Amino acid sequence: MADEARRALAELVERDKNHACDGFGPAGVCVRVVGVADLPTRVGRFQIVAFWNNRDAKEHVAMVHGDVIGAEEVPTRLHSECLTGDVMGSLRCDCRDQLLEGLRRIQSMERGILLYLRQEGRGIGLINKIRAYGLQDQGLDTVEANLALGFRDDERDYAVAAHMLQSLAVKSVRLITNNPNKISQLGQYGVEVAGRIPHVIPPNEYNKFYLETKAKRSGHYIDTEGKPHLAEQSDPVMVDGMAGPADEDPAETDVGR
Ligand SMILES: [Zn+2]
Ligand SMILES: [Zn+2]
Repeated sequence: MADEARRALAELVERDKNHACDGFGPAGVCVRVVGVADLPTRVGRFQIVAFWNNRDAKEHVAMVHGDVIGAEEVPTRLHSECLTGDVMGSLRCDCRDQLLEGLRRIQSMERGILLYLRQEGRGIGLINKIRAYGLQDQGLDTVEANLALGFRDDERDYAVAAHMLQSLAVKSVRLITNNPNKISQLGQYGVEVAGRIPHVIPPNEYNKFYLETKAKRSGHYIDTEGKPHLAEQSDPVMVDGMAGPADEDPAETDVGR
């Protein structure tokens, strides 16, 4: 099963060798599948799929579990790169929890895809993100720091993601997200989004303080030193047991068609 799925993915490299299209989004981004390999991880075995694109040197990847080619309603998570969170385990954001829980969630299902998009710091890059962190350390408030961090170029994100999903030949997806807005944005690039799976992180000793501070203060996530935290993923984080947006709609929702 896993071998078949891997072989099918590996064939995409040959298929895409001369692929060129008008591209997706205003920038006309076009991607090719250029590498596929087995990737055992601490949460299970994946196939990692590497993509080349015609616009910049960003090397996006997909983490694929099970047979997704030609499949319908494939559980899909979009994750934007966060070196400080994903790799260093920073507590200034929730990216690592979101990433690991996304991978775990996909692994627990028959099939699924996590697109790892190299959009560090909402697309402004690592250096600017760290500069914005520095401004926060000097006392900038959340709004000012948000301005310093800039705004994610959503159109570009979704255009690349949409082409990646098309390259993987998935017929339709169920998005693992707390952000219903993502559904329409992906939809505008021709991805059929058959529904939404709420992305809820189970409580653990590390995010317990998140729950506590969230419960104590309505609104923003503020750490024990009083510093506001910025949401780097375009999804508001939801920890199981925490009151918040996803609680208004905890069940799987079907949209469209
Ligand atoms: Zn293309
Ligand atoms: Zn982060």
